[in-house]
Amino acid sequence: MDNRSNNFLCPCCRSVLNIENNIIFSVKTQGNRKGLLLLSTKLGDYAVKNHETLMIEKGEKVNFFCPICKESLSANDVNDNLARVIMQDDDGNEFQILFSIVAGEFCTYMVADDNFKAFGDNSGIYFNEGS
Ligand SMILES: [Zn+2]
Repeated sequence: MDNRSNNFLCPCCRSVLNIENNIIFSVKTQGNRKGLLLLSTKLGDYAVKNHETLMIEKGEKVNFFCPICKESLSANDVNDNLARVIMQDDDGNEFQILFSIVAGEFCTYMVADDNFKAFGDNSGIYFNEGS
């Protein structure tokens, strides 16, 4: 699937969070380090970009915030270790995207009314496909 034309929105203020192929987040680590973090717009691509001063240790929880309205993107109504953004495709269809906030855990879920897709090597941690 080509995600190049998809946009990613903050669930709170609905601002667009992506520029080209990067989704921009404001983050705060468990160890209280703050910074900007970029994730790929391609679901299942776990390339993370951040400045070298924002050290993130493997297994550390990273809290994600909207860089515009500063609201927490935590999906703790589903699981404490997941965050949420809205993905909007070319046709205006919207999907909920859930992803792990634990550094080194590779899992992303795309959720719509009649559609559920899991991405990443660790996707079995939070949901089992078909359950
Ligand atoms: Zn926002």
